[in-house]
Amino acid sequence: MLRDEFDFIKKIRPKYSYQSSLIQGIGDDAAIYCNEPMFDELICMDTMVEGVHFTRQTMTPWMIGFKALAVNISDIAAMGGIPTYYLVSIAIPEEWTEEELTQIYAGMSDLGSKYSMDLIGGDTVSSKKGLIITVTVLGKVEKGTSLLRSNAKPGDLVFVVGDLGASAAGLDLLLSTGLNHPYTEYEKHLLKAHQEPIPQVEAGRILACSGLNISLNDISDGLASETNELAEASSVDLHIEFEKVPRNIYLNAYPIEKQKQWCLFGGEDYQLVGTMSEAGFKQLSPILSEKNIKLTVIGEVTEGSGNVYLYENKHKEKLLKKGFNHFDKGE
Ligand code: ADP
Ligand code: MG
Repeated sequence: MLRDEFDFIKKIRPKYSYQSSLIQGIGDDAAIYCNEPMFDELICMDTMVEGVHFTRQTMTPWMIGFKALAVNISDIAAMGGIPTYYLVSIAIPEEWTEEELTQIYAGMSDLGSKYSMDLIGGDTVSSKKGLIITVTVLGKVEKGTSLLRSNAKPGDLVFVVGDLGASAAGLDLLLSTGLNHPYTEYEKHLLKAHQEPIPQVEAGRILACSGLNISLNDISDGLASETNELAEASSVDLHIEFEKVPRNIYLNAYPIEKQKQWCLFGGEDYQLVGTMSEAGFKQLSPILSEKNIKLTVIGEVTEGSGNVYLYENKHKEKLLKKGFNHFDKGE
């Protein structure tokens, strides 16, 4: 149980800051930073709820903090941006200790420091049931260069950055055997993908700085859902070949049907999916490969009306926007 909110805020308040545009961080009624004339500002927010997005059986407090920030940074990456600041609103039930709460902030700080991000504010309230953590991330991108979902054009290739399925496979393991099971090294890779996803910021930056016409989306709700969002936003059709979808190598031990489920509908991989011209792909693939970033063509874009089709063994089916949907009762 948290005894003193003010004392807690003092403890989690960063001792120094990275961003030179910061004027006032934690400690006043609002944070102040100076916006930069050459950049567009980016801002996004995501909430994680105990019992919905995580449980104590699947995530340690440090991991909860790490992931709550990572999923927001992933949205900045999907715009091609540079993450700069974050704010945290936390609703705390009685049974959480101050040490556990401090660990949540350590998880955020360990990831945030990789990107020189500063924690500049938040809110602390009590909750009757379950911990709720809402993170707001600010970022910036060179004016006019954001990678919008609506940028897909007929003739473009569809690509994925990174590989898919590991997070959902890791979650399956955690739900059946919990955090402290003696997992194999292979299984630990799957767990880590679920618990500590690394957002694709560097890839997003390379894509945005190329000056090419690229559409981009991060994969939070599964490839099926995210490709449908691209198709709808751009009013085109996407055609995807399942054999080309990059599956995480640690999925090999599982039946193909499971792999398919995890890759297409599992979600929470926090990789990127987008479209660009073939010439663009030829230009960028050596640059990304030099940085050890995996870029895979999985299909193509045609004129259309916002649909996605999946091809497997010459069989064509419509890929529906199903994935994890909080309000979907499955009717
Ligand atoms: P006020 O009553 O003016 O809203 P608060 O006491 O809520 O002030 O917050 C004091 C300072 O601490 C503010 O700068 C606020 O942004 C920051 N803060 C409060 N709670 C958190 C939190 N959970 N994480 C990070 N910063 C916080
Ligand atoms: Mg307040």
